[in-house]
Amino acid sequence: MSDCIFCKIANGEIPSTTLYEDEKFRVILDLGPATKGHALILPKSHAADLFELPEETACGAMALAKKMATRMKEALHADGFNLVQNNGAAAGQTVSHFHLHLIPRYEGDGQHILWNPGTTTPEEMESVRKAVCEA
Ligand code: AMP
Ligand code: ZN
Repeated sequence: MSDCIFCKIANGEIPSTTLYEDEKFRVILDLGPATKGHALILPKSHAADLFELPEETACGAMALAKKMATRMKEALHADGFNLVQNNGAAAGQTVSHFHLHLIPRYEGDGQHILWNPGTTTPEEMESVRKAVCEA
């Protein structure tokens, strides 16, 4: 994708602060970090989101997330860690190239990355189960 900024960053055409790189992925620091050390795993080949991502790349991204999170948690003395991955504008995706957020968390860091718990009913749960499992 010639006009995709994350393609350019992942492939080194635009400079970034890189924490890790291999043939398939680059891990960069986010320019608008939620917390100290907030990073992004970028596949080098373009996929707009999770739905376009080849399964092999999805597996590789999660394996890399485990390695990076383990290393970053220790190096940055984080107290916890969020993995976040947004798909579609409704879910908060702003850059249409798959990326997995690595967000170190610190006690009292003041971030609000979790959701407000809602409510449901047995009927709604059954209708969701049917829609997903019997499609
Ligand atoms: P999302 O909202 O999940 O699409 O996340 C996009 C993320 O990319 C945001 O956290 C931005 O701060 C980050 N971002 C956008 N442009 C750049 C860039 N050039 N370098 C590093 N991070 C970026
Ligand atoms: Zn791209």
